[in-house]
Amino acid sequence: MTRVAVLGECMVELRRSGDGATLTQTFSGDTYNAAVYLKRSAPPLDVVYISALGDDSISAAMRRAWAEEGIDGDWTPSIGGALPGLYLIETDADGERRFHYWRSAAAARRLFEVPEGRRLIDRAPEIDLLYLSGISLAILPAEGRDRLLALAAAVRSAGGRVAFDSNHRPALWRDPREDRTWVERASRLATVALPSLDDEAVLFGERDPAAIDRRLAGWGVDERVIKDGANGAWVGLGGSAPVAVPAVAPAAVVDTTAAGDSFNGAYLAARLTGSPPVDAARAGATLAARVIAAPGAILPR
Ligand code: ADP
Repeated sequence: MTRVAVLGECMVELRRSGDGATLTQTFSGDTYNAAVYLKRSAPPLDVVYISALGDDSISAAMRRAWAEEGIDGDWTPSIGGALPGLYLIETDADGERRFHYWRSAAAARRLFEVPEGRRLIDRAPEIDLLYLSGISLAILPAEGRDRLLALAAAVRSAGGRVAFDSNHRPALWRDPREDRTWVERASRLATVALPSLDDEAVLFGERDPAAIDRRLAGWGVDERVIKDGANGAWVGLGGSAPVAVPAVAPAAVVDTTAAGDSFNGAYLAARLTGSPPVDAARAGATLAARVIAAPGAILPR
């Protein structure tokens, strides 16, 4: 069976609903959203979510939510006394969403400090595709980032693939230069890069998809998928110039949360089940159009 390991942070999500005094609680996070859509798009794939949680009831509920999606949480250790991160989404009078995070003490940051995390590298040969994002790197201390990239290198050495979405979150980085350095290091280990054009523009000052594609190809990334919201995506392979794949018109744009995550999940599911890259990008665009036509990151099952 093909095993995909998705590594990052799944958080407790609180969203005001109805009269504004009621909070609805779900679980979400960029890599987790991608894992959910990957599994839903190709149920025969073995999808493992790798993070760290606490030994509390909320962590237990999160594990149950993963299991309900068919996602294996057995590679995720529980750290005694730790808690998962949390965020609250508020929507102001103009419909603009604002996110408030409580994640600086989250268990996920400590993944590579516990024995299970340190031993992950030994399990690299069991991973066919490792998926990580700029946020997976951002939340870790420097030593954890090194260990994560060592895991990616070990997956590559064992013949596996590595997928990376640069997902830039300035609030998680002390200095944008730091983010740029880590994104370059991770990209150089990736077989598949799935950045958003907006993030690449902020990080590297380039808005031209062909230039972004050339830079990634120069770093040795064989498969490049550059996403640009309603403008669609560009797919570059090997030494070839990128091919445009149009976006799919959504029924309505209700909430663009997880557009990129769902695109990535559907894209990778299609690639791992034999579709060529351009067809996989169409599958990504089709799913993303459904996700943005509904509120929240994760569509009801
Ligand atoms: P992210 O969520 O990472 O910022 P993007 O905004 O680039 O990602 O969107 C990822 C993909 O989602 C796009 O390539 C496109 O297929 C789809 N998408 C996003 N916004 C829209 C939109 N307004 N209309 C149609 N498709 C969209």
